[in-house]
Amino acid sequence: MAFVDLDRLGRFIKLPTASRDILEGPEKQIMMSLRLKLSETERITATAYVVYYCTVRGPAKGGIRMMPDVTLEETTHLSELMAWKTALVKIPFGGGKSGIKLDPSPLTRFIKSSFLKEWVHQMRLDLERGVYIPAPDMNTGPADMAVIVGETRIPECVTGKPTGVGGLPGRLEATGWGVAAITRRAAEHLLKTQRTELSVAIQGFGNVGSYAAQFCKDLGFKVVAVSDVNGAIANGDGFDVPRLIRHVNEHRTVAGFPGQKITNDELLSYPCDILIPAASGDVITEKNADAIRAKLIVEAANNPVTRGGDHILVERGIPVVPDILANAGGVVGSYVEWHHSKSGAMSTKEEVFDRIERVLGMAWNRTLAARDEHKCDLRTASLIVAAGELIESMRDRNWV
Ligand code: NAD
Repeated sequence: MAFVDLDRLGRFIKLPTASRDILEGPEKQIMMSLRLKLSETERITATAYVVYYCTVRGPAKGGIRMMPDVTLEETTHLSELMAWKTALVKIPFGGGKSGIKLDPSPLTRFIKSSFLKEWVHQMRLDLERGVYIPAPDMNTGPADMAVIVGETRIPECVTGKPTGVGGLPGRLEATGWGVAAITRRAAEHLLKTQRTELSVAIQGFGNVGSYAAQFCKDLGFKVVAVSDVNGAIANGDGFDVPRLIRHVNEHRTVAGFPGQKITNDELLSYPCDILIPAASGDVITEKNADAIRAKLIVEAANNPVTRGGDHILVERGIPVVPDILANAGGVVGSYVEWHHSKSGAMSTKEEVFDRIERVLGMAWNRTLAARDEHKCDLRTASLIVAAGELIESMRDRNWV
């Protein structure tokens, strides 16, 4: 069954049965065992999943998540989101995602790289043929993407690379930049208040959360609460974000930075104007959606609001900017990087940021227009726009 509520979508637009069948489930699910021998007595073994979901618009695109609790179901949901996201922002990719069931935190960089090489060995044909194009996700970053380039020697087979090996200036910050750019638009249109008077709470302070914090602060928002897996802190007057980032670079956590200590649950219900979940999925559910005090939610993470949580937020009139729009800056940056790696073109960071903002701006405008036309919430509106693109591609390729 699709993760997206196709029944609900079908109440707003006509979803042809053949298209709906394609969108109901993944095209391909790969499950493999990865093994690395460290010594005569030590081995690492982990299960890995790779899922392709509706590649009608192009090769499967999506990050590699390395988490001890990642599942095939979660990887499938995330690959489906990528199919909707790439359609919404009109880039020629389909849905893809990888999950490696492993906690990399105790591993040295050398061991993590060696392990990733095992993943490349098993995925080599699909990577070399451009069937699947990975990127960073939770617990993977540019250094890991460099391992994939090193193993395949094909720069365009992966995005999110370090700039020294064909990466794109600004790709590291791209998702956080896009989150901030969309937050600015949403605040203007939906809250109609000066940015300097708006406070933001951010859950998760990794790649996406930390850059979202930095760019939101640069745009004039006040960042009043942040968290990571080790704890949460608040400061009603607003944090000095560059200092906070220096603290995190040094201590690898927001915990211990001067501020009021709160719990991770309290962060979600912290009194603020805008809540930006930027960590894992399923954090706002039917159990805590009533406690949310923000006036606007911007989904920097993938799938942070469950279906039950979403119903409550819609009923409460709290707008949610959906993940497929809010965090699409990353995949737009990836598209530019892929294109540059193939063609030899180059861009500055400013040009990349500008392009991301324009693409997201277009998707935002189309989403708002669909919301007004169909009198629906933003998530449904974004799916209506994306569905239009997917159905058109299915017709173009004679799939339906
Ligand atoms: P990351 O590994 O760099 O950071 C994750 C952060 O979340 C860390 O600070 C971690 O401590 C924190 N965290 C994890 N569980 C938590 C919890 N229960 N409570 C509070 N904090 C918690 O990952 P990332 O790349 O920043 O990805 C974050 C989210 O954004 C994910 O949902 C990912 O799928 C999504 N996303 C990432 C990108 C990208 O380009 N990296 C693009 C689109 C979407």
